Amino acid sequence: MRYIITGLVLFISLNTFSQKKIRNIDTFYSAIKAITIKDTVQSDAVSQVIKAAPDIKANNWSNTVYNPYKEVKVSFPLQIKFDDSSYAAPVKRKKVVTSRYGWRRGRAHEGIDIDLITGDSLYSMFGGIVRMARYTSGHGRTVVVRHYNGLETVYAHLSKYGVKENDTVAKGQYLGKGGTSGNARGSHLHLVINYKGVPINPEYLFKFNEKNEIRNNELWVTKKWTQPVFHSSRRQSKITPLFTEAEAIASLQKKRSIYVVRPGDTLSRISRNNDVSVASICKVNRIRKTSVIKVGQKLFIEK
Ligand SMILES: [Zn+2]
Repeated sequence: MRYIITGLVLFISLNTFSQKKIRNIDTFYSAIKAITIKDTVQSDAVSQVIKAAPDIKANNWSNTVYNPYKEVKVSFPLQIKFDDSSYAAPVKRKKVVTSRYGWRRGRAHEGIDIDLITGDSLYSMFGGIVRMARYTSGHGRTVVVRHYNGLETVYAHLSKYGVKENDTVAKGQYLGKGGTSGNARGSHLHLVINYKGVPINPEYLFKFNEKNEIRNNELWVTKKWTQPVFHSSRRQSKITPLFTEAEAIASLQKKRSIYVVRPGDTLSRISRNNDVSVASICKVNRIRKTSVIKVGQKLFIEK
């Protein structure tokens, strides 16, 4: 009797197993069929999508670290490509730049400030994936979007988030509301453009005008445009976009000239008249901002 029961149990379980197996195999084959059909019909479309949208989460992706590229060495001049001639405006009102990329109150200001009223909506300049949507000291509530050409746009001092980390966003998609969170003097958007952790002067790449123009589909960026010390937050630097690698390399040949200090000169006056920052004059001549300059003294001006 015991053997009969064991045999019966064995029979039933074997039977169930094989039925399950058959069902699984069926599902397996129909899945293969589906893949094959999809592949033959959509192969062109799929490959186009893959080509247009590289896997930007594959490397140096972090939701918590503001600059996940610390180990990456960026070589200059670097090339930035756009497949568009315009960006989507990060704010809908007229863009008033209240503080520029450059040296400010003895510190590096690595972005530009665009005026807004707390509660104004903010939009992604390009399509991409939200890398961060969290509070950071200084920047306050911050959204960082990584784009398909390698750039990241950073939107700081938000009053409200409209996206979550790892969300895919389209060009012009709502990201949240502007405000004063973090270390902000009055409500504004602090906008930073980074390439692999290197902040680029946003006005070198973009015109903050009504047409939302990108200066060129292909731009070459030299260190001059990635170091706030060469710029002043109070005025726009003279911008000559570099369209080719040859132009970029030629621009690296720095022109040094000698300036002889005249009566009534101050470092800031010399800086204004020669279109170089006070910080640059100090660096090249190894003097301090507070150093006393004398009439007749020779200063190097490097551009
Ligand atoms: Zn700012």
